[in-house]
Amino acid sequence: MQNDFITQLLGIKESYIEVEHAEVMDHAFHIEMGTKVRRVTCPNCKKKTKYVHGYRMQRVQGRLIEERPVVFHLRKRRYKCKACQKTFYETLGFVGRYQRRTCSLNEQVLTYVSENSFTQAGKICGVSSSSVLRLFDKRSIPQRRVLPRVLAIDEFKGDAGKEKFQTILVDAEKKEIIEVLPDRRVETLETYFGSCDIGNVQIVVMDMSRTFKRAVEKAFDKPLIIADRFHFMRQAYWALDKVRREVQKLLLKEERLSCKRGKKLLWLAPEKLDEKGREKVNELLDLHPNLKEAYELKNALHDWFHQSNTHTVKGNLEEWFQMVKNSSIRTFDSVVKTFMNWNTEILNAFVYPFNNGYIEGVNNTTKVIKRMSYGIKSFERLRKKILFRQAIRSVA
Ligand SMILES: [Zn+2]
Repeated sequence: MQNDFITQLLGIKESYIEVEHAEVMDHAFHIEMGTKVRRVTCPNCKKKTKYVHGYRMQRVQGRLIEERPVVFHLRKRRYKCKACQKTFYETLGFVGRYQRRTCSLNEQVLTYVSENSFTQAGKICGVSSSSVLRLFDKRSIPQRRVLPRVLAIDEFKGDAGKEKFQTILVDAEKKEIIEVLPDRRVETLETYFGSCDIGNVQIVVMDMSRTFKRAVEKAFDKPLIIADRFHFMRQAYWALDKVRREVQKLLLKEERLSCKRGKKLLWLAPEKLDEKGREKVNELLDLHPNLKEAYELKNALHDWFHQSNTHTVKGNLEEWFQMVKNSSIRTFDSVVKTFMNWNTEILNAFVYPFNNGYIEGVNNTTKVIKRMSYGIKSFERLRKKILFRQAIRSVA
């Protein structure tokens, strides 16, 4: 009973393990253990034997308990086969052959890897970072080859494998990452789509990248493409910011600073400003008429986005185009141009409830991963880490 209790605590399921002695030394748990004599199968001739040839002490590192290291001092038995005279060590379920770590420690290391850098995970578990990498590289993650009904595509800055940007594919309904691709080239996407079962894909959500669009239109049969709202709306914010920076250059030192610091206030929706913020914004808008005009154009698009429905969205957008045309600044012309080029895809965003919002979440995840694993140079490792983290999190 006592023995069962301790072995269970240690994560050992094998009933033939017997704990002989346990003590704490230098912060670590040291556990001496042996095994009951069993009838084992000779690896050479497959006959059964119980004949003991000798013993050897083996040191095995176990999984942390209460954040303390665990060291097993294992008395390993060597059996002898009477039939073929061969001697051999017993096999133990909780530690692989020739291994100095238990299987559960290896699992623990990998669990830490999903949320930490390789070095950190190694430090936590008392394993060298090269061992952590070896474990991680050995672990395979099954590839998904059946694409979902609603596919979302986006790029992210992963800085791996000499490419600044990588492509991420997400099941927008299940909110699961499907795959990470090494770059954002048309050929890469085409090759990937070519290797997948794409029969289910009906809707594709994407940013306004011509590359993605070309690959998608080529691979799928008349896909319904939705432009991601985050990506088209931010065009207006960028335009506003461009005007702000132009105005900033015309100002004297103090006003220039206040204009620079006003960026976030100007981006905020007017209804979200408090009394003080409103005052500050009015001060900023007084700095230059161009800034005031750009601010109003941004707000008008914001209103269009939040107040339109499927019936009014098209007409309201055309009104906004007119408003840009009538304004005295030209910075928003490029926004109009993008919106015209992607008109159908943008209007689709109002009809179908899917967007890349989840992908933005994924982007934050990748940022977290990048931060934790600063300098993951290998794309394969970056890809695996992203997919692995999701797999671990979905189980937890
Ligand atoms: Zn034998």
